[in-house]
Amino acid sequence: SLEVNGLSKRFSLRTPPAVNQVSIRVNEGEIHALTGESGSGKSTILRMIAGFEVPDEGEIVLKGKTVSRARPPLHLVPEKRSVGMVFQDNALFPHLTVAGNIGYGVSSDLRRQRVEELLELVHLTPYARRYPHEISGGQAQRVALARALAPGPDILLMDEAFNSLDRRLKMHLLPEIRRIIHSVGIPLLFVSHDRNEVFDIADRISIMHEGRILQTGTPSQLYGEPVDCYTAEFFGDAN
Ligand code: ATP
Ligand code: MG
Repeated sequence: SLEVNGLSKRFSLRTPPAVNQVSIRVNEGEIHALTGESGSGKSTILRMIAGFEVPDEGEIVLKGKTVSRARPPLHLVPEKRSVGMVFQDNALFPHLTVAGNIGYGVSSDLRRQRVEELLELVHLTPYARRYPHEISGGQAQRVALARALAPGPDILLMDEAFNSLDRRLKMHLLPEIRRIIHSVGIPLLFVSHDRNEVFDIADRISIMHEGRILQTGTPSQLYGEPVDCYTAEFFGDAN
């Protein structure tokens, strides 16, 4: 599981905290969506979990292991965290095939079998020998997902991973991601500002505003019992 307790981050004394006392828990096989308007702190949380930013306060515990803690200070480097990431523009290695991209960084004795399993998981087996410029945007995102899963991470982070895809493709990919996360059995923290996307994919949703989480709940809780006007308005016109 992923446990984030009382996480805070301030980039400068002249600006308010980007992340303010955030706590989140995501269990194995669970999809937790983090949503909210631009600048509300979503990416900063993911960057702290991945180890690219050091929190000012709070702790991050991955699969029972503390990977980040403000006091006494402990911050594992990203390579020691076993975190898989998929972002909006995942540059695939242009000189490597789909299979080569997925297997990159996997030890050579395991690579063949691991790549075959993952190709099957993301339904790309027939595309194994193609190069990135020979596949579609949606297929490229699935390659990026398989590549993120290849080292066997303890958690997966996705940050606006489907922004560049059209709505039809998104609606097709979201149930695929649910299937994959349930089958792999790791927590997914899924960041998106798109309400429809969040409603379609998440088991639980947290809505952020100015660095804080306003409310956490199931999609129907957030839609049916919003705690305040901001949340009501944010989810009000979602369908
Ligand atoms: P978006 O939906 O636009 O991606 P977000 O919710 O991901 O927004 P963040 O990127 O986490 O928002 O940014 C939160 C706040 O922290 C913003 O005010 C941003 O300007 C600020 N910020 C983020 N990274 C840095 C940085 N490296 N240095 C200074 N300020 C930063
Ligand atoms: Mg962001």
